[in-house]
Amino acid sequence: MADILPGLRGLQPCPLCKTAYVIDNMRVVEEDCGAQLVHMTCGQCQNSVLAFIVDPGLGVGAVGMLTDLSESDVLRLRDSSGLDENAVIDFAQMIRKRQKEFIYHFMKD
Ligand SMILES: [Zn+2]
Repeated sequence: MADILPGLRGLQPCPLCKTAYVIDNMRVVEEDCGAQLVHMTCGQCQNSVLAFIVDPGLGVGAVGMLTDLSESDVLRLRDSSGLDENAVIDFAQMIRKRQKEFIYHFMKD
């Protein structure tokens, strides 16, 4: 599954500090039908990119985006159905009801 990683050395460097990615900081987090989802962390600035890699046999194509998700976050959330409107409203109401507690816990770290 990780055989594609050596071929990714030629990809664009970190978009923030322009440091080249190293294989040790790349992980294939999902693979399906010749396409891979790769999480890459910059060894210099520690920012991460989630890249969708496709190799149709004529060369590697990639689309990436900056993310604050760690590799474990991606694995945990990849099958999540996401938030719906009710979950957002419930969360907003919970914060409103327990505002002092929320601020205390948010500020203590
Ligand atoms: Zn960087």
